[in-house]
Amino acid sequence: MVEYESMRDMGTGAQRTSPFHVLGAGPAGIAAAYALSRRQPKPEAVEVLEAAPVAGGNSASFMIEGIWCDFGSHRFHPVADPDVLADVKALLGPDLLLRPRHGRIRLGGRWIHFPLKIGDALTRLPVPFAASLLADTALKPLRRKRTGAPTFSSVLYDGLGATISENFYFPYVKKLWGLDPDHLAVTLAERRVSGSSVGKILGKMLRMLPGLRSPTTGRFYYPRRGFGQISEAMAQAAEKGGAAFRFGTRIRRIEREGNRVSAIWTGDDGAETRHDSAGVLSTIPITTLVRLMDPPAPPEVLAAADAIRYRGMILVYLILETDRFTEFDAHYFPELSIPISRMSEPKNYNAATEPKGVTLLCAELPCDPGERWWSMSDAELGEAFCGWLEGVGLPVKVPVRRCETRRLRHAYPVYDLGYQANFETMDEWILGLDGLINFGRQGLFAHDNTHHAFAMAYGAVGCLAADGSIDREKWAERRAEFARHVVED
Ligand SMILES: Cc1cc2nc3c(=O)[nH]c(=O)nc-3n(C[C@H](O)[C@H](O)[C@H](O)COP(=O)(O)OP(=O)(O)OC[C@H]3O[C@@H](n4cnc5c(N)ncnc54)[C@H](O)[C@@H]3O)c2cc1C
Repeated sequence: MVEYESMRDMGTGAQRTSPFHVLGAGPAGIAAAYALSRRQPKPEAVEVLEAAPVAGGNSASFMIEGIWCDFGSHRFHPVADPDVLADVKALLGPDLLLRPRHGRIRLGGRWIHFPLKIGDALTRLPVPFAASLLADTALKPLRRKRTGAPTFSSVLYDGLGATISENFYFPYVKKLWGLDPDHLAVTLAERRVSGSSVGKILGKMLRMLPGLRSPTTGRFYYPRRGFGQISEAMAQAAEKGGAAFRFGTRIRRIEREGNRVSAIWTGDDGAETRHDSAGVLSTIPITTLVRLMDPPAPPEVLAAADAIRYRGMILVYLILETDRFTEFDAHYFPELSIPISRMSEPKNYNAATEPKGVTLLCAELPCDPGERWWSMSDAELGEAFCGWLEGVGLPVKVPVRRCETRRLRHAYPVYDLGYQANFETMDEWILGLDGLINFGRQGLFAHDNTHHAFAMAYGAVGCLAADGSIDREKWAERRAEFARHVVED
């Protein structure tokens, strides 16, 4: 059965304007709806179509045993664009806490404060590690630069030297992306490594010193009711401004007439609804976007979508019968001896003292469907988690109530050596379509933070005319700005 939501109002026969459609209600989609709802003159109708039952995408929050949880450690970084930060502050009011960062990283079998602090690093780093780090720095001018096409590994060797590359970055990225650093593109270094030389890392550490630091250095913003409260507050404001959110609505097809996107099809096989569209703002994965085109995208575009991939992740939540497991917000594990990349304790993010007698640990286990962890039961993963903690000297000595898991299929874009060509094939074809603009972490295959997703959405809406046409020149400028976004950890 096919239903039509057409431009003619069935009851009155009156002509009504087709809505703008936002695809996906993660931070990028929500911010686009919010920006549209504040625009003057306001678009007649804005509809957000989202497959999940709630707003927030990978940045959503949910409760387990009375504790707010995120999909892994999420912080709102004070380096956000001033207009984005001002909006988030205004939307959250006193619910937005400014919290000190208090994490630990495991290097050479030792725990070191993270973000790095100069005094702590000097006293705790293993002596041979610190000595070879200093030697790498002193000998940098003499280091022979790698020849050949740059990769993640060659750029890090040249900039940082062997010690920090081999002991920190290489095992960490191998774990996160499941690929050898030689097989990862230089983009990963540009997007992900903010300290691209030892000098820059030292500069960051110096800026943490009292007297030199700004009021937000070494701090992060975090809402009282989990990171997802940011998306929820913005979605509510967009709704107040007239945007309609359709949750549990999976996009099935994207109809085009020639080069113009004209309608969106949602629902299940056999019960699909057609939505006429004045313009589409897409934040769903770029691979899904091209696969859903009807008539289909050209074969080379579909082949590029098959050749590019996202890394998945399992979030393992261990529920413990104690007020607090550690004083730290997060533990970072670059070493390959432990398969998780990070562990967070959600109660330490929003300084929650309730509920009493229970806390949670959230492990981030990078993993794709088909890998052995993916099909394991919650109980098996909980048991494995306790074993990993024991192995790093954090044995669980309190009763374990149970374990829950969540699985993300689109946690990180994979920047392998072939990704750029495949992304460009899809991107160029999409840029040639009218009535469609795509952005966000999944849309632009961008390893970014939530504040970047917000900035992209504001940028996209700023390039969209009332008739759904896109100012291509302006959009190219915005895209060049997005390419300079660097991920904060
Ligand atoms: C482990 C981890 C830790 C992170 N930590 C931080 C952090 O500390 N700070 C920070 O700022 N950022 C962090 N991020 C990044 C942050 O989660 C993302 O930047 C943000 O969620 C991107 O928003 P988005 O809207 O672009 O994409 P998403 O959040 O992925 O949203 C995309 C939406 O599209 C929907 N969708 C997809 N396909 C369809 C379909 N066919 N039909 C309908 N809907 C569909 C999805 O359900 C989803 O809701 C982290 C990410 C991960 C994975």
